[in-house]
Amino acid sequence: MNRAVVCAPLAVEGFALRGRVGPFPVVPTGMGPERSTAAAAHLGAGGSRPVLVAGVAGALAPGLRAGDLVVADEVRGPDGTVPVPTAVPLAAALRRLGLTVHVGPVLSAPEVVTGAAYARAAGTGAIAVDMESAWLAGAAAGGPFAVVRAIVDSPEHPLARPGTPLRGALALRNLRRAAPALRDWLAATGERTVLLAEPRSFCAGVERAIDVVDRALDRFGAPVYVRRQIVHNAHVVRRLQDRGAVFVQEVEEVPRGARVVLAAHGVAPAVREQAAARDLAVVDATCPLVTKVHAEVRRYAGRGDTVFLIGHADHEEVEGTVGEAPGDVVVVEDVEDAAIVEARDPERVAYAMQTTLAVDEAEEIAAVLRGRFPTLTPPRRDDICYATTNRQRAVRAVAADADLVLVIGSQNSSNSKRLAEVAAREAPPPTCSTT
Ligand code: SF4
Repeated sequence: MNRAVVCAPLAVEGFALRGRVGPFPVVPTGMGPERSTAAAAHLGAGGSRPVLVAGVAGALAPGLRAGDLVVADEVRGPDGTVPVPTAVPLAAALRRLGLTVHVGPVLSAPEVVTGAAYARAAGTGAIAVDMESAWLAGAAAGGPFAVVRAIVDSPEHPLARPGTPLRGALALRNLRRAAPALRDWLAATGERTVLLAEPRSFCAGVERAIDVVDRALDRFGAPVYVRRQIVHNAHVVRRLQDRGAVFVQEVEEVPRGARVVLAAHGVAPAVREQAAARDLAVVDATCPLVTKVHAEVRRYAGRGDTVFLIGHADHEEVEGTVGEAPGDVVVVEDVEDAAIVEARDPERVAYAMQTTLAVDEAEEIAAVLRGRFPTLTPPRRDDICYATTNRQRAVRAVAADADLVLVIGSQNSSNSKRLAEVAAREAPPPTCSTT
């Protein structure tokens, strides 16, 4: 059972949200530290629970205007600081509602901050000030905790001014507008089942490439030069850099006679020639399944075919594969391309694929090509590698049962992007992320 609760210190704040945050109770907790402490003791008595504090606040940082929302990423009180790790996704959900949102520390002061106290409070680096959140954090008792405050006053527009009722009404209106995002946050804090796709994580080709660089470092010591990212994964690249790997874009950047590792995605023959011209000691980490596609393209081009390469023109693997026969390979990125591409001789045509495409999308493109070129020669065996296919199948299975699919990978990873697309196609509308 989800015991999430909204703490609204003032009655007007509770009124703004009551009935708008789904089944979750909006509890009036009272103004100031004493009432907040008592409410926290009462609410937290049954053990940890998700707590969302919602109300109004004073601005401390410049640029905050009446009605803006502040989402605390930490709450600072007299007894210490409470981190609020869910601030960023909650702020993003609020921004999607068209609200102006600032994320930063919120200071909880024991009394109304006015005059010189404002400057002192602003000097702490907090962006807003309230009188309850630090004490209400105790109600969560270690459970999920969030603070959303709508700005009413600021050093330029203090509370004791005629404009305060108008600014207060604006703040409460925006708190009301925030209700759908607050409701979703509360709902998301309930018990969750995490489904892990199987298989996941690195494929054998990537494991091998990483291992090649590690072994080169073990055996020859730093520096070991690596052309391009050995794999499209920022964490792996950083770890290898820390060990002494130096990543370069082109072999021209490698000192003559040095050792260079070629990444898993493969390279054009011209790159090997450049490496030889510089007397580089080449360690080849190209995945054998990419090498297989290169061989295929060489064979088809060698017998005079135009080779349609289904893939993304700007991907390193495709650049390398095209380099096997630059005059004979035509990159086909989508069904639109497939509908218009031409061949020297429409009777002598073949196709190959980038290894990390989405299987269903690539098949659609191939079907258009087959429809236009009846004698089109397909790859002998599937070019989309077993690792890509299996992971897409696993994501599809998970997406069918999930509310949200998270794909954890790098933005420049073709595999990660395709997995997010596959999940989105499988069960719309889950939110699929690549990070
Ligand atoms: S071709 Fe497949 S197995 Fe090889 S590195 Fe690429 S994704 Fe991994």
